[in-house]
Amino acid sequence: MFNAYQTTTLQFNPTECNGCGMCYTVCPHAVFNRNGRTITVAHAENCMECGACQLNCPTNAITVDSGVGCAAAMMYAAVTGKREPVCG
Ligand code: SF4
Ligand code: SF4
Repeated sequence: MFNAYQTTTLQFNPTECNGCGMCYTVCPHAVFNRNGRTITVAHAENCMECGACQLNCPTNAITVDSGVGCAAAMMYAAVTGKREPVCG
């Protein structure tokens, strides 16, 4: 089952998680905790809904409503090393 958090649209499904740690690595706000290959959501209240974790999760274990336009796109560019989008 998905865990729902009151302060963010972030949803994490641990049954789909393979423990790769990408979400832990890319999250700019240390929302996730990593203990070996076990990932937990430690600070959901810190989530800024940038979408980086969802974009980088290979198993679709994370969903987040990252509908904040340019901010999300720029974050994606930052974490993937791709050129920054043109905004405005
Ligand atoms: S949406 Fe961004 S801030 Fe929120 S958990 Fe994912 S990577 Fe972290
Ligand atoms: S990126 Fe996805 S599969 Fe990898 S640890 Fe995070 S939730 Fe699990």
